[in-house]
Amino acid sequence: MSNEPSVFSRIIAREIPADVVFESDAVVAFRDIAPQAPVHLLVVPKTERYRDVVELAAGDPALLAEIVATAKRLADEHTGGEFRLVFNTGASAGQTVFHVHAHLLGGGLPEGTLGH
Ligand code: 5GP
Repeated sequence: MSNEPSVFSRIIAREIPADVVFESDAVVAFRDIAPQAPVHLLVVPKTERYRDVVELAAGDPALLAEIVATAKRLADEHTGGEFRLVFNTGASAGQTVFHVHAHLLGGGLPEGTLGH
């Protein structure tokens, strides 16, 4: 693991600006810089100890549950309660930031778009 803080840790530390829509003791959510849906938020644990959702589920299932609950709460606010939650896991699956995060996508997703 790199000793450099992840881009998300730098957002959490307010070293990089972001449109933060939610923050708790353990979790932060902000708008993705390159949105791929009408609503595209990232829900991120403040700790960067877990690189992906598999590590997070094994190491701190309660924190994973908090991410899912936060996504639901944000979806109620931003997408009418319906949403897609994506955890890219590994570079060949599109993961570029190895600080676990959920993509919360919604606001009008066409059917059959998964994987495009
Ligand atoms: P991944 O590809 O790892 O699943 O998702 C990383 C996401 O982080 C991408 O959708 C990318 O657009 C987003 N991202 C990368 N750098 C920044 C940034 O500096 N600010 C924000 N708001 N999003 C970022």
